[in-house]
Amino acid sequence: MIYLDNAATTWPKPESVYQAVDQCLRTRGANPGRGGHGMARAASLLLYETREALAELFGIADANQLVFTYNATDAISMAVMGLADPGDSIVTTSMEHNAVARTLRLAQSRGVTIHVIPCDSTGQLDMQAMAAAIRQKPKAVVMTHASNVTGTIMPVAEVGKLTKEQGVALVVDAAQTAGVEDIHVADMGIDILAFSGHKGLLGPQGTGGLYIHEAITVRPLRVGGTGSLSESDLQPEFMPDSLESGTPNTPGIAGLNAGVQFILQTGQAAIRAKEMELTGQLLAGLLAIPAASVYGRLDLLGRTAVVSFTLKGQDSGQIAHLLDQQYAIACRSGLHCAPWAHKTIGTLETGTVRLSPGYFNTQQEIEQALAAIREIAAQGGFIHERDFS
Ligand code: PMP
Repeated sequence: MIYLDNAATTWPKPESVYQAVDQCLRTRGANPGRGGHGMARAASLLLYETREALAELFGIADANQLVFTYNATDAISMAVMGLADPGDSIVTTSMEHNAVARTLRLAQSRGVTIHVIPCDSTGQLDMQAMAAAIRQKPKAVVMTHASNVTGTIMPVAEVGKLTKEQGVALVVDAAQTAGVEDIHVADMGIDILAFSGHKGLLGPQGTGGLYIHEAITVRPLRVGGTGSLSESDLQPEFMPDSLESGTPNTPGIAGLNAGVQFILQTGQAAIRAKEMELTGQLLAGLLAIPAASVYGRLDLLGRTAVVSFTLKGQDSGQIAHLLDQQYAIACRSGLHCAPWAHKTIGTLETGTVRLSPGYFNTQQEIEQALAAIREIAAQGGFIHERDFS
């Protein structure tokens, strides 16, 4: 099987990730922070080490400002719902995933005003409109670091400079970039960073994280046992406990730790270079197919390893189905939980086929995928004809 769906979740994981999850369950399977015995302390240490490793990766000065979540969606919900009050306004972009869009719609139903900044048909942000919106001093800007539909990298550092000048909080959805693109929260002016642990960070599903600048207080979405201040029935107000209630996904975090260590050892730049090489090969191959339309930027600048395409006269779902059934190639078609982004690039009606290579893919696999797409394209609208005959 050729797996080209790394934007949804990376697979396979490094061998060390599988081993870390297994070993954690066997040897560190106690509840972290909830007992003084040796194995509970070992589990606590694991959380501590993982927090430190992630803080190092993202340029976070105080690792306690980073909390573990269950995925990026969880982190975004915690940030937005814990930050916004009725009467606030929030600025966002037209390229957002539903993890942001639906959360902001929920906030809107609770009296928050939402202002969506347009992007062009390749996914590039209208920076002038963004700057004007920031000058209105909204409560926050909530934006993705890179689109999961086109791979377009958004100008987060540029936005961060403006939000800093105006005292506006910048909340960044790094689901598609954490572990692959450089992220330095202080240098980029990021006040709140939400990320998945199971994508570029190479950890297991059920992991993610949320960083919050020490000057910002985010109300907890969930309260409960934290292992600290047990004499009180009130939630601790200090980080990370204020936002980490209930038993964490310790085995998942062990795997996440191994994923981060793999990235630090391999070098994030080397991982990105490999992914970009495969993406360049994919883009060149698709652009040579006359029936193919490719979305987003057509060069490798300002993009991640996500390539969306359609074939003239053919249904995106059918193409993905054929790739899966006839060629054992895994990809994702449709709207990718991002209807705003598809509306922006003009594919809301058709959806796209998305190929997202990862570090463990090979040039040969990309060539096989391109050969399969060429064959499907050569059938030239047969699905279309069959559907309407
Ligand atoms: N934002 C973006 C840009 C994404 O691509 C995704 C995952 N498709 C998410 C948020 C949600 O991530 P998770 O599945 O980890 O909640």
